Amino acid sequence: MISKPIVYDENDNKVVEEYENDENKCSSFWNLQDNKNLENLKKKIKKYYLKIQNYTCCYCKQTIIVDHGGSWDIEHIISKSVKEEFMFTPENLALSCKDCNTIKGAKNVLKNPNRKTFPDLSSDYIIVHPHFDHYFEHISWLEKSMIYYPKENNAKGVNTIEVCRLDRFLFKKINLDGEDLDSGYFEAINDLNNRVQEAETNFEKAHCLKLLNDVTNIGLAKLSGNELSKYNL
Ligand SMILES: [Zn+2]
Repeated sequence: MISKPIVYDENDNKVVEEYENDENKCSSFWNLQDNKNLENLKKKIKKYYLKIQNYTCCYCKQTIIVDHGGSWDIEHIISKSVKEEFMFTPENLALSCKDCNTIKGAKNVLKNPNRKTFPDLSSDYIIVHPHFDHYFEHISWLEKSMIYYPKENNAKGVNTIEVCRLDRFLFKKINLDGEDLDSGYFEAINDLNNRVQEAETNFEKAHCLKLLNDVTNIGLAKLSGNELSKYNL
């Protein structure tokens, strides 16, 4: 959870005003090439959130310790192409890895997509909000095998995993490109197996068993040369 949103100084506010006074105000303002002040503000936003998020993506929690701006995207939690008016709202900004940002795209994250004012409560959002929610109250994470699953009856957890396709890590981990099942595959099986035994609730146990079943079926399909596309990999 981001403890404190960025605070704009006088120069930063000039950029925001420039955007607000623009007659053709639209989200493409964000990508203007010849606006030095805008460039500087975007750099500042990246630097600020990188530090406060400790080089960790707000949606997948992967840590990428790289300062180069090209490795990170400024994430508009409510997409700027959906609601451009929140494009510079500090609580609508965070840093995400490029994959999460691309996959999430312009998908809806709001309980009430027609709302006009900025939604500033956790309950206004259907996903885990980087500023308003504690991530691990909604999502369980097996760090080693990069497996994510929602906490019991947790809609925000379910939606975040779906919106950002956080299952992509498991499918990368079990790497199905080679001839045979590799060590990543067996690591995932072991991790899930251990979790099934250690799970504190039946919900968690059932969820890990289901994932174990999916991974097992995928392995079986691969070994028997069956079509893997039905697993949506
Ligand atoms: Zn990510």
